[in-house]
Amino acid sequence: MKISIYSKEKENKEIILAKVAELVKKYNHEINNEDFDCVLYIGGDGTFLRAVQENKDKLDDIFFIGIHNGKLGFFYDYTIDELEEVFKDLEKTEKNISKHRLLKAELTLIDGGKETLYAVNEIRIENPFHTLVSDVYVDGVKLETFSGNGLIVCSSLGSTAYNRSLGGSLICPTLDTLQVTEIAPIFNKSYRSIGSSLVLSSDRIVEFVGKLTNVVVGYDHLTSHINDSTRIKIQLSDQTVSILHKSDYHYINKVRECFAE
Ligand code: NAP
Repeated sequence: MKISIYSKEKENKEIILAKVAELVKKYNHEINNEDFDCVLYIGGDGTFLRAVQENKDKLDDIFFIGIHNGKLGFFYDYTIDELEEVFKDLEKTEKNISKHRLLKAELTLIDGGKETLYAVNEIRIENPFHTLVSDVYVDGVKLETFSGNGLIVCSSLGSTAYNRSLGGSLICPTLDTLQVTEIAPIFNKSYRSIGSSLVLSSDRIVEFVGKLTNVVVGYDHLTSHINDSTRIKIQLSDQTVSILHKSDYHYINKVRECFAE
């Protein structure tokens, strides 16, 4: 198997990479960062997001293996001390690989131009300086006129990230959902919005419509400054990302380890 190594590690990088190289040789694989079957990423959850975005044109043909090195590790199954287990799992004919749909956002600009973005965790619109006002539609049906700091639409996989900090629900990633969660909504006589997160089935389409000036569109760790968008359409895309898990992986163990221990 051809394995690409993705690491932003600063500490012990050489030692870790030497250990990986030794095992790659022992199990008759090859390190190849140009043409590969899987990406072995080492670091924290942010590393996974970056590895996916940097390989988004190859996602149909590859899977990801996370080596957790001391941070939160929601997207990780193996630790540095369990490196050999990765290679034993790669030997198995029945690998425990989960597939997750990416979010897709289509931005319509005032001049009629379009921009398309993809994300693992969430797509968000934020205005850190002024009140952001946006109509929110689901399948073309108006939900609300939102006023506040911003809005996010997260995937089930991304529900443990920014969405969780905003009080949104954690969604088991075996369910394909979209979740709309508000960022600091204004509630008073003039402004009203739903005020709780809204979980939608995988076929729904969420749209933010309005004069979206000076808005930052965030998608995972990336941002795009939009001065002149009129409509942002968000849905689950057909593009998936595949992750290798240990045979005894269970989502609830991950939630407990990351947030309750
Ligand atoms: P980052 O440093 O890459 O990530 C910020 C934190 O979110 C890190 O602790 C990261 O874990 C964790 N994280 C990322 N994806 C996660 C997931 N699916 N489940 C649980 N935790 C997750 O920051 P960034 O480059 O600005 O943006 C990447 C992500 O940060 C965004 O997708 C967004 O979800 C999140 N974010 C969170 C907040 C917030 O909670 N207030 C605000 C802005 C952005 P590691 O330490 O393991 O990397």
